[in-house]
Amino acid sequence: MLRFDVLTLFPDMMIPVLGQSILKRAQEKTLLDVRVHNLRDYTQDRHKTADDVPYGGGAGMVMKAEPILRAVDALTEEARNDGEEIRLLYPSPHGRPFSQEYARRLAEESRRMVILCGHYEGVDERIRTALAPEEVSVGDYVLTGGELPALLLIDAAARLVPGVLGDPESVVEESFSDSLLEYPHYTRPAEVRGLAVPEVLLSGHHEVIRQWRRKQALRSTYLRRPDLLRDRVLSDEDQRLLDEVISESVTVMAMRGVEEG
Ligand code: SAM
Repeated sequence: MLRFDVLTLFPDMMIPVLGQSILKRAQEKTLLDVRVHNLRDYTQDRHKTADDVPYGGGAGMVMKAEPILRAVDALTEEARNDGEEIRLLYPSPHGRPFSQEYARRLAEESRRMVILCGHYEGVDERIRTALAPEEVSVGDYVLTGGELPALLLIDAAARLVPGVLGDPESVVEESFSDSLLEYPHYTRPAEVRGLAVPEVLLSGHHEVIRQWRRKQALRSTYLRRPDLLRDRVLSDEDQRLLDEVISESVTVMAMRGVEEG
């Protein structure tokens, strides 16, 4: 079972999300175990102080080191008593970029993953020195806290655990599964406001549909994320489909040029 222990000052930012939809069912099926711990429970003063002003002055508050150290010690000890180990993750803009490949590796992790959610200006730097957490970034922007990134990590990893999604094929074909964006999907009705479903999807011809989808995946990737195609060795079929996509887009651009004069 995939196990996450989340350390946060704001458990309520996470608990409602974990109690919905696929994540909820994954926990019910005991494929996923997420425990959310309030860092204030590891403070020792009357006011449960978990943050303080920064040394040297400046804006914002800094999360104190001791409650975090105590919490990590407690979880390490608990894991050890159960014959297990922990892997400490710290969502941070300084971290390695999160990706589908990263999620795949998390999904295969047998250790308990402890996610430390920073908040305010982040954590006292001595946490980095003392615990050397694995820092992971969810993008080049700054969020108010690590709670949303923690949910991203849990969600992306959990859905890759066999049995979590109803149809195991979903994770085989989707975006990034083989470094391509996924093909488009349509559902009933066959026409919406004059927009028809591509004829090929109604044909019932599986091989033609497979090739059409493959070409759409290559088209989407070529037009929106060409970086994903760089250095990629394509099969003969993919190369042929991509050549068609490229020549079709050149034609479309040439036609637009003519129209715009
Ligand atoms: N002062 C920090 C800096 O400039 O790098 C930003 C702190 S941020 C306001 C508070 C917390 O949100 C961080 O400690 C981290 O846990 C989380 N966070 C913010 N942006 C993030 C991102 N892009 N990826 C992962 N975690 C992020």
